Amino acid sequence: MNDPRKLYVKSFGCQMNVYDSRRMADTLAPHGYAETAAAAEADLIILNSCHIREKAAEKIYSELGRVRRLKEAAAAAGRRLVVAVAGCVAQAEGEEIIRRAPAVDLVFGPQSYHRLPELLARAARDGKAVDTEFPIDDKFDHLAAPSAAATRARGVSSFVTVQEGCDKFCTFCVVPYTRGAELSRPVAKILAEIEHLAAAGVREITLIGQNVNAYHGEGTDGRPWSLARLLHRVAQIDGIERLRYTTSHPRDMDDDLIAAHRDLGTLMPQLHLPVQSGSDRILAAMNRRHSCADYRNTVERLRQARPDLALTSDFIVGFPGETEGDFAATLSLIDAIGFSGAFSFKYSPRPGTPGADMTDQVDEAVKSERLQRLQAAIDRNQAAFNRGCLDRTLDVLFERRGRHAGQLVGRSPYLQPVQVVAPAALIGEIAAVTITDIASNSLFGALAATPAPVFAPEPALAGAGA
Ligand code: SAM
Ligand code: SF4
Repeated sequence: MNDPRKLYVKSFGCQMNVYDSRRMADTLAPHGYAETAAAAEADLIILNSCHIREKAAEKIYSELGRVRRLKEAAAAAGRRLVVAVAGCVAQAEGEEIIRRAPAVDLVFGPQSYHRLPELLARAARDGKAVDTEFPIDDKFDHLAAPSAAATRARGVSSFVTVQEGCDKFCTFCVVPYTRGAELSRPVAKILAEIEHLAAAGVREITLIGQNVNAYHGEGTDGRPWSLARLLHRVAQIDGIERLRYTTSHPRDMDDDLIAAHRDLGTLMPQLHLPVQSGSDRILAAMNRRHSCADYRNTVERLRQARPDLALTSDFIVGFPGETEGDFAATLSLIDAIGFSGAFSFKYSPRPGTPGADMTDQVDEAVKSERLQRLQAAIDRNQAAFNRGCLDRTLDVLFERRGRHAGQLVGRSPYLQPVQVVAPAALIGEIAAVTITDIASNSLFGALAATPAPVFAPEPALAGAGA
């Protein structure tokens, strides 16, 4: 038998790209490709790109400079290295990528991953291949499942895409153009995938989608199911002890989903709910279709359902027209909510989006200065949240060995990394840990003699929220 060809996949951007990269590797495995962590020994390099901000998109071109040198070195050694660009930059720029970077053999968008073996054959035959169609067949029907060994190697926590694309058209965002219209996968297919992962030892599932709480896939009864209903059903799968979902839009946090945070013990008390700005004027210009008061009201209902909920968010500073007053409103919202963390970005005009054509663009220096102030506010929120965990006993799902001998790293229910001296046999297990120290947003703890207290809603709150 021939040695397997070596595949190196590098993901940029969001969790959806991480998931897609794994499914590409699974699809190529039956065609004789084994994954390698060393780009220099690869026969096929796939860069799975992100187009969300200009900086993210430009990263692909600097990475392609390095890959070109690897391709030249492989050719000098008599070896053919095939270079592919996948993902949202591929979707948005298509053939332009090959014009700018002739070392690239293959360009394909997020809806074409299942055609990868055929596209590689086409590139080998014709020299180059480009595929940025939005085909009508569902790529998920054709992507191969990972082997049990590949699943185990990837750890005890896994992403599963349940929804793709977006119909919201926020004026800053390229996703509706690069990922296409919103599409929800049928429940039966999601359950089959999660059962397969659970059988291989996965303990935690994060359901992912660009707008995951808009999920409305076909249920096992032939009717559309909401994300809440899907979560309740996934919670019944043997072996799945923790559930999360991301990324949610505030407009789609319906009553059933909020109630799931109260009723579903496996649903972790942590939610990423991007608000982007604390100014109603800017939210309207962004076409977010919710006000600051709507957001605060949703958070209040969520906290009635699950008082210890850890909330994270995304923020954009310097959206066109943002004044110092608008920015001050964002800072007040941050302190009013008390986030456990957040991602924050300077507004980046994206070609083809309405925001890019707005005339009142904000100066780069102003954006940088606001970003610094915003990040300082978030850091204060995060430090306060973490301090609140000190001396508490929390359940930790151990994921891997730590950097120091005898140390394991796991995640708290609030998604914080926790480092503990513990036996390696605990990897894949949940154990009670008392938090003893905090440094740079990492928690340190010791295995506890008694179990973590079980969360129970107060009787007065038990009927609220739904
Ligand atoms: N669907 C999610 C939502 O509605 O919030 C987020 C999707 S996007 C992949 C992740 C984040 O990137 C956004 O929440 C936003 O903060 C940021 N983002 C998107 N477009 C951006 C742009 N043009 N400039 C700066 N940040 C951007
Ligand atoms: Fe982009 Fe999210 Fe808005 Fe959709 S809801 S357009 S993915 S920011």
